[in-house]
Amino acid sequence: MDQIQLRNLPSVDRLMASEAMAGLAAVYSRDWVVGVVREQLDLARKEIRQGGNAPEAESLVDAVCRQVADLTQTAPRRVINATGVVIHTNLGRAPLSRAAIEAMSQAAQGYSDLELDLATGRRGSRQSHLQALLRHLTGAEAALAVNNNASAVMLGLSALAAGRDVIVPRGEAVEIGGGFRIPDVLEQSGARLVDVGTTNRTYVRDYENAITENTAAFLKVHASNFRVEGFTAAVEAEELVELGERTGISVLHDVGSGALLPTERYGLAHEPTPQESVAAGMGLVFFSGDKLLGGPQAGIIVGKADLVARLERHPLARAMRIDKLSLASLTATLLHYLRQEAVDEIPVWRMISATEQAVKARAEQWNASTGSAGRVVASRSAIGGGSLPGETLPTWCLAFEHPFVSGGPEALTRRLRHGSPPVMARIEGERALLDPRTVLPEEESDLLRVLKNALSD
Ligand SMILES: *Cc1c(COP(=O)(O)O)cnc(C)c1O
Repeated sequence: MDQIQLRNLPSVDRLMASEAMAGLAAVYSRDWVVGVVREQLDLARKEIRQGGNAPEAESLVDAVCRQVADLTQTAPRRVINATGVVIHTNLGRAPLSRAAIEAMSQAAQGYSDLELDLATGRRGSRQSHLQALLRHLTGAEAALAVNNNASAVMLGLSALAAGRDVIVPRGEAVEIGGGFRIPDVLEQSGARLVDVGTTNRTYVRDYENAITENTAAFLKVHASNFRVEGFTAAVEAEELVELGERTGISVLHDVGSGALLPTERYGLAHEPTPQESVAAGMGLVFFSGDKLLGGPQAGIIVGKADLVARLERHPLARAMRIDKLSLASLTATLLHYLRQEAVDEIPVWRMISATEQAVKARAEQWNASTGSAGRVVASRSAIGGGSLPGETLPTWCLAFEHPFVSGGPEALTRRLRHGSPPVMARIEGERALLDPRTVLPEEESDLLRVLKNALSD
């Protein structure tokens, strides 16, 4: 039976003779298209062996066309985020401001003074402008930017504590997600983890009792994706700094998100800011560029000049260095803070600061322009992405529920996800929700078109 089906499969030559394959071979190399055809034939053979039938030549040709179309798209694809999760790691975290996009595009288009001092004509540092900005914004003596916060922490530990001990409270030896676990990062850096305290409580005396002559640093890690509630105690930054000064041990602080603005102003819990950490006297402070800072992927290190200098000299600094496009957009993003326009210009802050009335008005307008099949309901938007665990903002969503939408909420969210561009909604109980908070104004017309199609399917 299998043998007959396998023999029924069209040959590579027969498939390549079709008009569609000739069209593809005219654009791409013929050999490459033949390779894709072979892959599809292999798949068909596998299916036959599992009891399937040989597909028609036509459907094989269609499958090859779809695979070529898939492979030849640029990636990542643009997606509209109607989930209401502001910093969504799977959706690329922070969207950039206009100015950041423009700076990135300028840096990409031609040559730049990336490592050239135009005043003297001699070699310069790619970091110097950014370092000055970060010093002004955080009050730190020195700064350095690398590829991401995971590499920032790794660089800090490698440069300051390789072969020595780093004291970390048990409740802070955490996993941030995506394979970033503090104990593993420490091990990889060559430092030895010495954990102190208990899961819920750590006191200064716990640190003090663990100090030996091999202790290189204390590491404080912000619990950015979980919350410990109830009978808890953590050592405040100031106390730890005081102990560090008394014992000559460096104090390192991974604050995670790097919120430069006070989150409590927008009805959220307080997220530790790099400025506070610097003011408390931390030796090094690490944070991400693409979480609440609202910029590109980057890892930022600010702190004491002698410590930052040791990081700059470490060979890993070169391996983790920030690329010119991220550098350009990070600088442009930081300038918004310096100009005190961050809330108006940086998308994540615009989303967080959007009022309930403004979000509700957009949801109502979306409903009206798509046939009023939905209902505008109160819900909560999340901050997400390793920032402010469990913290949400009151919001208004456009909701679709059975029986007004065929196939239920899963079917609707699937149709939206298959739209062009794909629209990501969220499901809450029996309803599919679209949250205007995380949809950029310039994305609205695309969103409404995709939504209309999804509702009429
Ligand atoms: C997000 C996060 C990291 C990892 O940062 P990336 O920029 O994603 O590498 C490290 N530590 C904490 C506390 C975080 O919240």
